[in-house]
Amino acid sequence: MHAHPDDEAIFTGGTIARLCDIGAEVGLVMCTGGELGAALATGDALAPHREAETRASCDHLGLAARRVDFLPYEDSGMDGENIDGFVHQDLDHAARRILAASVALCGGPLDAIVTYDDHGIYGHPDHIAAHQATHRAAGHHHQIYGSTPTIYESTVDREYLHFVATHIVVDASGGRPADRGLASTDLGLATLDIDTTIDVAPVIERKRAALGAHASQLPEDAPLFELGEANFAAVYGLEWYRRVGPATVLDHLEGPAD
Ligand SMILES: [Zn+2]
Repeated sequence: MHAHPDDEAIFTGGTIARLCDIGAEVGLVMCTGGELGAALATGDALAPHREAETRASCDHLGLAARRVDFLPYEDSGMDGENIDGFVHQDLDHAARRILAASVALCGGPLDAIVTYDDHGIYGHPDHIAAHQATHRAAGHHHQIYGSTPTIYESTVDREYLHFVATHIVVDASGGRPADRGLASTDLGLATLDIDTTIDVAPVIERKRAALGAHASQLPEDAPLFELGEANFAAVYGLEWYRRVGPATVLDHLEGPAD
């Protein structure tokens, strides 16, 4: 599950592609329409446009349109300034909606569910609410189906990112500190706190295409598209998770692809 269109590509695009490639039953539940992203030059409504971009992104990743669902929540904004936003809605109701949509997309009870770490990677209130709602959804899953899906909390390895070109999430979090570097910040998690690292280099071109599908937010001249091939692969070629629960098919993706 994700909070905003483009998060699926930025943080988990390679994981989605690799899971689809091995025939896993994958679904994407998008909680909001990303209403507070960069506005369209035409002045048209942003949410339907971003939904179409998300479906195009998923097409590049190998995830069929019928595997993608949007919940009717609104983007809260980085400061929670939209009083109708996701973060201001009833958490338990959101959890039940996320669970129902996920089970419907995947055709049955879940082995695993992906969300964000407990501070939403860089503090976005919708990501934090998504983290909380997902943990609650896992509890409801146990009540209904008698099993608890493993939760994978998507994050970034801030110590790794210290040594490569700038990841888009670094800019979203306020940029690189001038003095001690990313390892001194609270962006994502430290290496030791990460359980599952997925090598997405084999699908990096599809991840780049998925990011490119979000042209309203990531135009052709966005800094990430100006990274050379090697730098792009270094910055975006790994995806990181903190795992809560036993290993599943996601962990089986660790290490090089066949
Ligand atoms: Zn987001």
